[in-house]
Amino acid sequence: MEETRIVNATWDVSTFKYRIEGQGLTRMLSGMRDAKLIGIKCSKCGTVYLPGSFYCRKCHIEIDEAIEVGDHGEVMTYTVGYADVRGNPLEEPRVSPMVKFDGCDAWVMGALEGVKPEDVHVGMRVKVAWAEERTGSLQDMQYFIPE
Ligand SMILES: [Zn+2]
Repeated sequence: MEETRIVNATWDVSTFKYRIEGQGLTRMLSGMRDAKLIGIKCSKCGTVYLPGSFYCRKCHIEIDEAIEVGDHGEVMTYTVGYADVRGNPLEEPRVSPMVKFDGCDAWVMGALEGVKPEDVHVGMRVKVAWAEERTGSLQDMQYFIPE
């Protein structure tokens, strides 16, 4: 049975600190230097996380099996932005898909280039456009382009 908890409180978002789990992000970034995506696979259920988690959220066990994930994948959902975060209109609409890479169960968000918003669809095949000079940072994965 699922349980929902309601916590009545004031949340000061400006002091929130993001906690990076284990070595998953470090592994992913070092792989990105070589234009590879490295996830972590659960040995029990086979779920592949990217960035890798130190535990399986389904099995509740520690996991540490590094596995290469494809840099091609499928658009699972997407949004089209017509304004920036301040509400100023963009010169060109911006497509932001959630992509499920081949051999991976996680969805990764990014920008999609090289296609008109009206031509984007769920199930569309895309691939990573890697930066030519990679440094082992999130910017190594520039954006997605149609496959
Ligand atoms: Zn599992």
